Amino acid sequence: MNDLPNCWKCRFFRISWDARFPYECEAMNFKSQALPCLQVMSIDGRECQWFRYKTETDPSADTKDTTSGIKGNRIDHSA
Ligand code: SF4
Repeated sequence: MNDLPNCWKCRFFRISWDARFPYECEAMNFKSQALPCLQVMSIDGRECQWFRYKTETDPSADTKDTTSGIKGNRIDHSA
């Protein structure tokens, strides 16, 4: 498993309405042309420190929820 920050798997990643800056990081509140995690790496020289898995992509999350019968469609209202 690759644990590098990946915006596509991050709960803070958004697609922007702005065609010039189509990607958005909600945690650090900026829009960009390239993936935000790549922007962070190029500016800060370090991996993104804010990365958090979306619930449905978290490899440590328990996906064997037998109470509902629905898997991977949970909505996280705490973010
Ligand atoms: S917190 Fe990091 S990994 Fe998540 S969207 Fe922002 S830049 Fe990408």
